[in-house]
Amino acid sequence: MTSHNPKISNNESLFDESQKVIPGGVNSPVRAFRSVGGTPLFFQRGQGAYVWDADGKKYTDYVGSWGPMIVGHCHPEVVKAVQDAAAQGLGFGAPTAAELELANLLCKLLPSLEMVRLVSSGTEATMSAIRLARGFTGRSRIIKFEGCYHGHSDGLLVKAGSGALTFGQPSSSGVPAEIAALTTVLDYNDAAGLEKTFSATGNEIAAVIVEVVAGNMNLVTPKREFLEAMRALCTKYGAVLILDEVMTGFRVGLQGAQGYYGIKPDLVTLGKVMGGGLPAAAFGGRRDIMQCLAPLGAVYQAGTLSGNPVAVAAGLSTLKLVQSPGFYERLAQLAKQLTEGLTAAAQKHGIPFCAQSVGGMFGLYFSKSLPTSYAEVMSCDKEAFNRFFHAMLDAGHYLAPSAFEAGFVSAAHSDADIAATIAAADKIFAGW
Ligand SMILES: *Cc1c(COP(=O)(O)O)cnc(C)c1O
Repeated sequence: MTSHNPKISNNESLFDESQKVIPGGVNSPVRAFRSVGGTPLFFQRGQGAYVWDADGKKYTDYVGSWGPMIVGHCHPEVVKAVQDAAAQGLGFGAPTAAELELANLLCKLLPSLEMVRLVSSGTEATMSAIRLARGFTGRSRIIKFEGCYHGHSDGLLVKAGSGALTFGQPSSSGVPAEIAALTTVLDYNDAAGLEKTFSATGNEIAAVIVEVVAGNMNLVTPKREFLEAMRALCTKYGAVLILDEVMTGFRVGLQGAQGYYGIKPDLVTLGKVMGGGLPAAAFGGRRDIMQCLAPLGAVYQAGTLSGNPVAVAAGLSTLKLVQSPGFYERLAQLAKQLTEGLTAAAQKHGIPFCAQSVGGMFGLYFSKSLPTSYAEVMSCDKEAFNRFFHAMLDAGHYLAPSAFEAGFVSAAHSDADIAATIAAADKIFAGW
C-alpha cells in the first residue's frame, strides 16, 4: 500500500507502516539506515546497473543486493533460467540434476572444493562449516577476527574480551556467554597475535574462520604474512582453515579470494553471487572433512529448501555469465575507475579521503590512508561518510547505507555510469 498524500513520500509512508509489523521496519538491520540516518528506500524494481525506489526515483546501484547482482539486475538470461525452472516445479525436497550441475561447476571453478553441499544462506554455510570442523577435529575452540562477519549464528556474534588470550564475549544479547567463550577473537592482519594464540592453545583449536578480503568492516585487504601464518599454523596444529568467501567468492575473481591471493583453504563457504540473487549458498572443501557430514558421517546438517531448483537456476545462469572472457578484467577495471576517480575528486578539493578495490568490490574511507585493521577502520570519519552518502543519494547514486560496508559494481555498469558517479562526487566535494 502506498500513500497518496503528496507531502509524504512513498518511502516514508511504507517505512511508517512497516515499523508497525516488522521490528525496525526491516528484515535485516543495516537496511534501516540507522548508521547514516534518514528514511530507508523501498525498492520497486531494478534493471542493469539501476534501481528505482517506491517514489519512482532512479539510482545507480553500488550495493547490488549486497553483492549478488554481479551481472546487473534482471539480466535476461538469469530471468529466463529462473522462469523456466519455476515452471518445472518450485521445489521437491529431493535431489535434482541441476544441483549436480551446480556442485560440479563449483568444484571445477574452485579447485579447493573436492565436495560441496548446498544450503540457503551464508549464515547456514558458515555455521555448518564450523560444526563440521568441530566434528572432524573433535575440538571446540574457534578463532575469528574482529570486524569479520560470518553470519548471525551464536558462536560468531562474538567480540574480543579485554586483553589477549581471553575468552570471547557475546556481541549480541541472547548469545550465551558459555558459547561466546568458545570463540577467540583476534585482530585481523595480526600474524603475531595468531601465532601467540596457537602456541598457547593450538591443540584446542578446531578452526580458524576468516574473510580473506574483509568486506564487512568497509574493505580491508590481507597482509601476505597474515595469510601465510594462518595457513601454516592451521596445518601445524591440525586446525581447519575456513575461508569465508560468501562475499568474495566469484566477486573478486573467478577463483575467489583464495585464487586472488593464492591461499589454500580446508573448507570454503560461499553465498551471495553463487545464488544469483536468490537464496543459495554452499560449503565445501577437503573430501576427508566433507565425508564426516550426514548421511556419510556423524555431523548432522540438513535443509528443506537446500538446493532449491529456482535458486540453483539463478546461480547456474549467473555463474555461466561470469565465465565469459574478460568478465573479471572489466569488472575490476570499473571498480578501479570508480575508486581512482573519487580519490582524485576528493584530493582536488583537499578532502582527506582514499579508496581501493579488489576485483568487483571496493572500499571508500574518509581518512588519509587505507586502513589495515578494524581499529583503523573505526577511526575513519563516519560523519563525513554519512554526509557524503546522503548527498550522493540525493544525486541518484546508491551507496551502502553504512561507512562499514564494502561497495560493489556489476558488469551492467558502463563507463558513463562510473563517470557520472565521479562527477556527482566532484560536485559534492566542491561544496564540502
Ligand atoms: C553476507 C555474509 C555472510 C552471511 O550471509 P547471509 O546470506 O546474509 O546469511 C557470511 N559471511 C560473509 C563474509 C558475508 O559477507
